[in-house]
Amino acid sequence: MSCSFELGHYREILEAAHAGGYRFQRFGEGLERGDLFLRHDIDLSLAAAVQMAELEADLGVATTYLLMTESVFYNLASSEGVAAIARLRELGHAVGLHAVYPNVQLDDRFDGVVSWHNPNSEYMSVEIPGAVNVYAEPYFSPPTYRSDSNQHWRSGCPHEELRGGGFPWLQILVHPEIWVYPGSTMGQTMKAMLETENERRLEQLVDDGIHLD
Ligand SMILES: [Zn+2]
Ligand SMILES: [Zn+2]
Repeated sequence: MSCSFELGHYREILEAAHAGGYRFQRFGEGLERGDLFLRHDIDLSLAAAVQMAELEADLGVATTYLLMTESVFYNLASSEGVAAIARLRELGHAVGLHAVYPNVQLDDRFDGVVSWHNPNSEYMSVEIPGAVNVYAEPYFSPPTYRSDSNQHWRSGCPHEELRGGGFPWLQILVHPEIWVYPGSTMGQTMKAMLETENERRLEQLVDDGIHLD
């Protein structure tokens, strides 16, 4: 099995979690032996989030999507953003806020769960009134945390330990963009994402009545 950042291997990771007897849980529930908290911080692409959410739903898996209200890459208040939230909900996933510190405005689009965008250690694990901070106890502890940041699993891809039941419980952070778009380096993957974005932008210009010829 090759640990590539492709949807095929993502599917294998989910199947490994099932095989290892892990239960997919929401933040705010648990925490018991065998609990798996799988979260997605959506930094760049709602389309990638929805695509990953559909794959998970196919496998009967519900996870947590954390969306930004202050992204420079997408607008959650646009029709596209509203449709993305509706689709994630329809597929059974939780939707929380991927916040830029210190701004936490949890309106009714969000469940009470927050992750920080590009956090630093000074505020990472602060208490957030009325919400779960995914970087605070009990849901965060370094030995039971895996993150795929920049197409690199700092402590190794978790599929083998999941399959063997090696973690007492685990939180995993997966960024959909780096799995959905092709490329064997982060640079290639980001360029592939931008090519897709370019097509989407061209269609949006036409939809907005702008002539391109
Ligand atoms: Zn792997
Ligand atoms: Zn982020």
